[in-house]
Amino acid sequence: MTDRNKAGSSKAPLVLRDGLSRRDFLKLTGGLTAAAAVGSAPAAAQAGVQTRARIVVLGGGAAGLTVAARLRDLLDGARITVVEPSETHHYQPGWTLVAAGTYSVSDVTARNEHYIPRGVDWKKDYVAAVDPESQVVETAGGDRLDYDFLVVATGIHLDYEAIEGLERADIGQNGLTSIYAGPEQARHAYEQTQRLGEQGGVARFTIPNTPIKCAGAPIKATLIAEDLLRTAGHRDRVDFHYHVREGALFSVERFDGMVRDIYGERGVGIESGSVLQGVEPELRRATFVDGDGNRETVDYDYLHVVPPMRAHDWVREAGLAVEDGSLAEGGWLAVDDQTLQHARYPNVFGAGDVVDTAIGKTASTVRAHGSVTPDNLVSVLQDREPQQRFDGYTSCPLITEVGKAALVEFDYTLEEVPTFGFIDQGQPSWMWWRLKVHMIKPLYYNMLRGRYLR
Ligand SMILES: Cc1cc2nc3c(=O)[nH]c(=O)nc-3n(C[C@H](O)[C@H](O)[C@H](O)COP(=O)(O)OP(=O)(O)OC[C@H]3O[C@@H](n4cnc5c(N)ncnc54)[C@H](O)[C@@H]3O)c2cc1C
Repeated sequence: MTDRNKAGSSKAPLVLRDGLSRRDFLKLTGGLTAAAAVGSAPAAAQAGVQTRARIVVLGGGAAGLTVAARLRDLLDGARITVVEPSETHHYQPGWTLVAAGTYSVSDVTARNEHYIPRGVDWKKDYVAAVDPESQVVETAGGDRLDYDFLVVATGIHLDYEAIEGLERADIGQNGLTSIYAGPEQARHAYEQTQRLGEQGGVARFTIPNTPIKCAGAPIKATLIAEDLLRTAGHRDRVDFHYHVREGALFSVERFDGMVRDIYGERGVGIESGSVLQGVEPELRRATFVDGDGNRETVDYDYLHVVPPMRAHDWVREAGLAVEDGSLAEGGWLAVDDQTLQHARYPNVFGAGDVVDTAIGKTASTVRAHGSVTPDNLVSVLQDREPQQRFDGYTSCPLITEVGKAALVEFDYTLEEVPTFGFIDQGQPSWMWWRLKVHMIKPLYYNMLRGRYLR
């Protein structure tokens, strides 16, 4: 890790800013430990429920691994299989820090073999189809897996192809960037920001017309790039434009206001009702569409793309997707938004980004799903009603510059639910930056082992 942060470097002396005392910081680190410790206890200490149930977990990312680990701890004798094609585990919340030049690619990359829980089978393949009536999963390699219970945790499909003229291979070249595409692309974003500073020009940042994972990440990408240029002394060479659909920049009113204020202070223009429709990468031209369908083509030197997002096609093809309402188009998994049990199939549960809840889609949300989903599955397995309730918990450290962040936490009410009530978490501070850089990653990897769930 190359911590280039001014205030937050691990080597820098503990310089207290923003009126926060050393005592506050100690309370914070102590509080974090306490907050972790009061989460769901590792279930291994409890007697496991005896069962011969066959449980298939689709997807072995943040949610799939967490759920599998907790199920393994809760149950005795179950046959649990995780279907996950990739050897590599991506710590996606670290990708913004790669774009900031703070983390390296290797800081956010791990091997799945270290996190598939012992005693759980790993089917290294893609799910191709599910028949929820006959309770069978088919993999791309042609295998059939019968199940008694199914957990769907395959995350999100990034629909770059829905943007006219854009191919994934274009990302990282000719000023076209997207930190959502992967850690290498996040590193390219950092490099292209340096190049933009040297050459000057117009930088554009986009938001699609769909739900997205970590809704704060596009804001972070913008403010990190702006700060990198400011620190390098090149800020006056670049015009910043943030293209957003109509409405709020952030779902929590206070942070919507805060981001607007920061954009105003730092000269980031907000282009409202402007959704990316197409790109011509060679010509560095982008076409945006407004709510009435009017198109406008503009030049750019640097374009950060956040693609439209939806569930993978097989979810809809299996008849597991939400069928009505504003989320139907994305084919998200239809679940009860509190129990995370499927709306039509009681032996099917969801976890992570794939579910059709109104908010969520963060790794912090997975900390909550990681106990709600397995615990409710075990209740149903015992012929009981699901007991656990997901409250919509969503969180991310909203990076406002390299070295500062606000710690945003909220639930279905869209009101703040701060973990550290003794400090105003919404005030950007070096403390939340340090939390993001040094503490959240170990918490995340513990979560994958079923520990410190919310
Ligand atoms: C740039 C960025 C910044 C972020 N910042 C934050 C942050 O600051 N804080 C925060 O809390 N969250 C953040 N997130 C969000 C967080 O990473 C996700 O919410 C979290 O990873 C969701 O977990 P998941 O298991 O649902 O999806 P994933 O972790 O994406 O895992 C899905 C898994 O399903 C597998 N899969 C896909 N298709 C199939 C198939 N057909 N068959 C079998 N397996 C399949 C994939 O290989 C993958 O392993 C960020 C995300 C990004 C991209």
